[in-house]
Amino acid sequence: MIIEIDKNSGFCFGVVEAIRKAEETLQQQDVLYCLGDIVHNDAEVERLTRKGLITIDHELFFTMKDTTVLLRAHGEPPSTYEYARQNNIHLIDATCPVVLKLQQRIRKGSESDKSENTQVVIYGKKNHAEVNGLVGQINGKAIVIENVDEIDKINFTRPIELYSQTTKDLDGFHVLADELKRRAVNVPLKIHDTVCRQVANRIPAIRKFSARFGLIIFVSGQKSSNGKMLYHICQSVNPNSKFISSIEEIDEQWITDVDSVGICGATSTPKNLLEEVAEALRQLAFKKFK
Ligand code: SF4
Repeated sequence: MIIEIDKNSGFCFGVVEAIRKAEETLQQQDVLYCLGDIVHNDAEVERLTRKGLITIDHELFFTMKDTTVLLRAHGEPPSTYEYARQNNIHLIDATCPVVLKLQQRIRKGSESDKSENTQVVIYGKKNHAEVNGLVGQINGKAIVIENVDEIDKINFTRPIELYSQTTKDLDGFHVLADELKRRAVNVPLKIHDTVCRQVANRIPAIRKFSARFGLIIFVSGQKSSNGKMLYHICQSVNPNSKFISSIEEIDEQWITDVDSVGICGATSTPKNLLEEVAEALRQLAFKKFK
């Protein structure tokens, strides 16, 4: 039985850095609050919780004062920083540099719009933490579009600037951009491709990887957007693809008729979890061929 872990899977650098900052801080203090899940992976959140990380939501954050809070890679709107400043909350800002740069572009683009007539369109998931952070840069004045079917929310008599949530898929972004070009015939249109290549580059790689094995085991937390998207790509290439979040979900029947298994995951899946899955499969394979 061939069992191989996809070398391109595992945390992206934004998540690695957020976890590094959390662990570094927890060496100096017993408890650290984190605004939202530091990563969309329960196993990793539990590991850090054992070290003292406490995940809080926005409702609780806006009642706190005189403490330290970590901001995760997704980023936050300016109102979060303002509340922290007024309430003596020390922020450890782990916003990914790619997201920070996107926030600045949206803010500066809006500030330089003298006509104040331009519509900022964000291709993203409504109420996703990163999208809330982006929309907050311009006081909520952005149109969030999840797919091309929602294009009628845009007024095609006014200028348009299009951006993307960093973890959205490039294909969907191009479909939307092409439709905007087709319909915005007499108005200025600027298209900013802000899809993060840490995710986008995994798509062709995971396609090739999925095609090489009799069975694909995709490991991800249920809440990860890029996990769902990458899993669907695995499935489209290899219908014998299974989604799991922990080793307990592995079914030994899956390896009955296959002689090769590929293991891959999302940008929020820890490498050690992929290795644990590989080890569990090796033991099942050993049982099978004994
Ligand atoms: S996916 Fe890209 S933008 Fe998002 S945290 Fe990772 S590196 Fe940063």
